[in-house]
Amino acid sequence: MLENAKEIIKVDDVTYIYRNSSDEEENASAAKQVNGVKGVSLSIYEGEFLAIVGHNGSGKSTLAKLLNGLLAPQQGKVEAFGFDTSGKDVYEVLRRVGMVFQNPDNQMVASIVEDDVAFGPENLGVPQPEIVERVKWALSAVKMSDYADKTPTRMSGGQKQRVAIAGVLALKPRVIVLDESTAMLDPQGRKEVIDTVMRLNKEENMTIVLITHFMDEVIMADRVIAMDGGRIVMSGTPKEIFSQEDRIKEIGLDLPVISTLAHALNKRGFALDTDIFDVEELGEEICQSLSKT
Ligand code: ADP
Ligand code: MG
Repeated sequence: MLENAKEIIKVDDVTYIYRNSSDEEENASAAKQVNGVKGVSLSIYEGEFLAIVGHNGSGKSTLAKLLNGLLAPQQGKVEAFGFDTSGKDVYEVLRRVGMVFQNPDNQMVASIVEDDVAFGPENLGVPQPEIVERVKWALSAVKMSDYADKTPTRMSGGQKQRVAIAGVLALKPRVIVLDESTAMLDPQGRKEVIDTVMRLNKEENMTIVLITHFMDEVIMADRVIAMDGGRIVMSGTPKEIFSQEDRIKEIGLDLPVISTLAHALNKRGFALDTDIFDVEELGEEICQSLSKT
């Protein structure tokens, strides 16, 4: 489906190593672990839903910050929408590539929801009537219109993250990068956020880069990349990635719950496809398999 899609971000052989790491760490990292990212190349295409996975410290956040120019490559080059992220046009990049972070409590700058969402466009100098329009649209896109005049104090984590997403949307970005934005949420909040970004992806053709350690969130992605030791070590569709159980375990990751179930049943004599992510479909397979015996 993405064969003809336009390449919008190009990461070309990029290295970024944090300079404040001690010599011991540098030596330790020389072996395998890298204190940052090393030699990473990646293309991101318009309208895709890309998931990035990897254990703690594998370089996901560093890569995320390289995508929108928050960090500039020490080696290699990142281009977003034709702009070099380490050049004078970093501002053009920041406008197009929005980022949502982990902690829902650290992202609000104003005490009323609509003021918070308006903050970004106000800083961009967007005319007032258009700000009003953008805030309205952004809050409705994350289904938080009813909270426009509320304070966030009594909102759930999921609601706060949706407001944070609205704040990014109000900048009219082309890409939204979510860096473990569901990590601190309860299951309900996680679902709200994932449903929201999936809807933006499908209905607004928004490009989504979802960094997560919940493998069940990855199933819906068009493409997955896995990082280990500051490098991209796996890349493919969710099916391609999660059919490699041993490799996934090797880099310290889990399988989605549904794949774990299929693998576990296969160890007990079933011969199920391990790349089924749909509960109904797996149930069907199990029934068929049982009726054959
Ligand atoms: P992830 O997001 O996958 O957990 P990060 O990109 O945050 O990984 O970190 C990659 C590596 O860089 C880790 O070894 C981490 O300790 C190190 N690192 C991250 N941020 C800093 C920093 N500000 N200063 C020094 N080292 C850092
Ligand atoms: Mg991180």
